[in-house]
Amino acid sequence: MTTQASGRARPAPGLPDALAITLQLAVPLHIDELRHCDDRQRMAIAARCADVVAAHGDDLQYGGKHCAETFNALARGLAVAAYQPGGITFAGALHWCTDEDCTWQAAR
Ligand SMILES: [Zn+2]
Repeated sequence: MTTQASGRARPAPGLPDALAITLQLAVPLHIDELRHCDDRQRMAIAARCADVVAAHGDDLQYGGKHCAETFNALARGLAVAAYQPGGITFAGALHWCTDEDCTWQAAR
C-alpha cells in the first residue's frame, strides 16, 4: 500500500465550514504520522479516538472543554480510516484515502 495521502472535498451542507476546513488540513497530517503503523496499531488508535469522539462529540459540536481533544481524535480517527480499502468519506463531502489513483470526485 502506498502512503501517499489523498484528500478531496465537495460542498457539505450541514457541516460547519470551520470543521470542514480544519479537517482538510489536519487529517493529511495524521495520515502521514500513521504511515509507519501497522494495521493493529492503527485499529488501537481508532478505538481510542472513537471513545473520545463518543464521549465528547457534543463539545466538538457545541463547544466545551474537550473540543480540541475531540477534534484531534476525529481527525486522527479519519486518518486511520483513510488506510482502509476505499478510504473514508466523511459527511458525504470530505474524502481521504491512500490510493493515489483515487477516483472519488469532488463534485458529484
Ligand atoms: Zn479515495
